[in-house]
Amino acid sequence: MIEPNTIQHFLSPSGIRLTAADTTEAVRTACRIHHMRPLSASVLGKAMTAAAILANDFKNHEGVSLKMLTDGPSGPVYADAYEGRYLRGYTEHPEAGAACPDDEKGVITGAGQLIVTRYSLLRQPYTSAVNLWPGDVSDVISAYLNLSEQVLSAVRLEVLFDGKGKVVHAGGIMAQLMPEGDREKMASLFRKTEEWQLFHPEKSKDPGQAEFESLWKKEFIPLYQSPVSFRCTCSLEHIRHNLSLLPAQEKESLLKDSSIEIVCHYCGRKYEISRETLNQWFHEQRKGDVS
Ligand SMILES: [Zn+2]
Repeated sequence: MIEPNTIQHFLSPSGIRLTAADTTEAVRTACRIHHMRPLSASVLGKAMTAAAILANDFKNHEGVSLKMLTDGPSGPVYADAYEGRYLRGYTEHPEAGAACPDDEKGVITGAGQLIVTRYSLLRQPYTSAVNLWPGDVSDVISAYLNLSEQVLSAVRLEVLFDGKGKVVHAGGIMAQLMPEGDREKMASLFRKTEEWQLFHPEKSKDPGQAEFESLWKKEFIPLYQSPVSFRCTCSLEHIRHNLSLLPAQEKESLLKDSSIEIVCHYCGRKYEISRETLNQWFHEQRKGDVS
């Protein structure tokens, strides 16, 4: 239904904006990189999809960083969407989760905070936060939009696994009422979002999916579509910048070994940096600071 590995933006004549994403390959890539068990894969998959659909100002290249700081088993979850088409993410406890994927529904079991930062060509980045409570990531994101951004929204996120714990489908939708939109139409269309199935593991469709498909075709006009994939923004330049922000004492301690290794949390890429390179970086920084 949702085109595989794409993000699609729609608008209805009744003033409802709809963003739909199929993030299956991006979530599979994250699972492979981080060796994730189903619980953490489900939570991360939903968080990555949420970042993708929250970044819906595609005209201004909006990016979204999402942090769910929870004390639940998967630990803090980080997901970024940028350039309207790239996703990345990780959890601090990828090993969390039972062997049986049937139990794993992408539910945050701990309390904490959801922190969302939006980046766009139009304005300075801005960050807002809401308290998290135990519940499905879909509900957490809906509550964030309704409370913090004060936009009437409905969000549905799904990650489906096969019997071996491999991700079969990942994706989601977000409907938002625009300022001049028809509130009653929004309520009637999206009252039962939690009953919809965006993907179905079998060929046969269930009533929820049929309802979703007919709604899609009848009510919404496609605006824009883009492919979605996993990609990380880490680079030696970023690392150099981050190291330049360290206090002098910590820089000194980095120079004790012949080289240091830095591993990117998001993509697992390893960077080995020799003492000579570090020395040169810090030296050039001191020169830059003086001039
Ligand atoms: Zn990386």
